Amino acid sequence: MIEEKRSNELRITSIQHFCVGDGPGIRTTVFLAGCNMRCLWCHNPEAVIEDIFKYSVLNVSESELFEEICEDKMFFENSGGGVTFSGGEPVMQAIQLKRILKKCKTESISTAIETAGNYALKILDSILDYIDLIIWDCKAVSREVHIKCTGVSNEQILENLKVISSKNKTLWVRIPVVWNVNITEEEMNHMGKYLTRIMPERVELMPYHKMGISKYDQYNLEYRLRDIEPPTNEQLKLCCNILKQYDINATYE
Ligand code: SF4
Repeated sequence: MIEEKRSNELRITSIQHFCVGDGPGIRTTVFLAGCNMRCLWCHNPEAVIEDIFKYSVLNVSESELFEEICEDKMFFENSGGGVTFSGGEPVMQAIQLKRILKKCKTESISTAIETAGNYALKILDSILDYIDLIIWDCKAVSREVHIKCTGVSNEQILENLKVISSKNKTLWVRIPVVWNVNITEEEMNHMGKYLTRIMPERVELMPYHKMGISKYDQYNLEYRLRDIEPPTNEQLKLCCNILKQYDINATYE
């Protein structure tokens, strides 16, 4: 359920300055708390699992957060960067997010959100005018794979992505690659076919890594992918080659 808190505070887990990769240029990335999905590989459990929010979440006022974002304005201007709201699922705090996005636009700060898209489209529509770049995390196209990996169906997500792609917004798609979990050759083909209808400006493969495991241990949480290894270079190349057959150029690091 999307939160519609009326307070002027945002629940965040961290703010990272001088990020590269969460959009163009040098960016400040704000990690918002709360998510209505439960991806098996999530490496930000502190922003997702409510039982541990008392240890991980900070309440910050919109004005405090805005001031902190503005401190990096010179770097944004010199690099073509801006602010990215990630999480968790930033759209879970749509009301507060909208107000802060609006403030950023009044200061001509470029804005991006990284979202998994699991909500009613009208919620994203309500903030769309204040977003320059949408980074859409696409976990799987097959419904069964999506449910197995995230705990929720993807019908609404895929429909939302289709609608958003028809709007005049810069759209990047990120695909987490957890080999034999959400991604196989077959699933990559489904992904390629689906993305031909979306044609995002950029597609990034995000290879699975094990760096999040220590957080699960720290908070005594169950982590179900302990035995899964990061994808090999060959597997990542294979993913790129499959997407190429659908005229989609994907990158990975
Ligand atoms: S959508 Fe993102 S933040 Fe939410 S559980 Fe999945 S990986 Fe974690």
